[in-house]
Amino acid sequence: MSDCIFCKIANKEMDSEIVYEDENIIAFKDVNPQAPVHLLIIPKKHIESVMDFEDKDSELISKIFFVAQKLAQEFDVHESGFRIVNNCGKEGGQTVNHVHFHLLGKRSLTWPPG
Ligand code: IMP
Repeated sequence: MSDCIFCKIANKEMDSEIVYEDENIIAFKDVNPQAPVHLLIIPKKHIESVMDFEDKDSELISKIFFVAQKLAQEFDVHESGFRIVNNCGKEGGQTVNHVHFHLLGKRSLTWPPG
């Protein structure tokens, strides 16, 4: 989608601090980090939200979690713990309408979320 900032990041039309990339997935540092480690993992193709996942995306979805696992190790939060967050829709707090998973770590995270 031409006006989607995460599509622009995925297409390298916009700068970001990329921490992982393969054919279908890209991960980069959140520009407004809420924890010392705050990464965003996204599919390169434009999918608006979790509600738009289709059966054909199942391998992609699974891969996203393996990328999270790999990044948790690389960013050294695999033992201390971390959180994977998806905000879906307006009341879920989604502000960018290209599905993404936050990986947050290196601080003690509280519950429930705000
Ligand atoms: P959401 O609120 O779950 O939709 O998360 C969107 C996230 O994208 C927020 O944490 C923003 O800080 C982050 N964000 C917005 N624009 C950019 C950008 O250009 N680069 C990196 N992260 C961004």
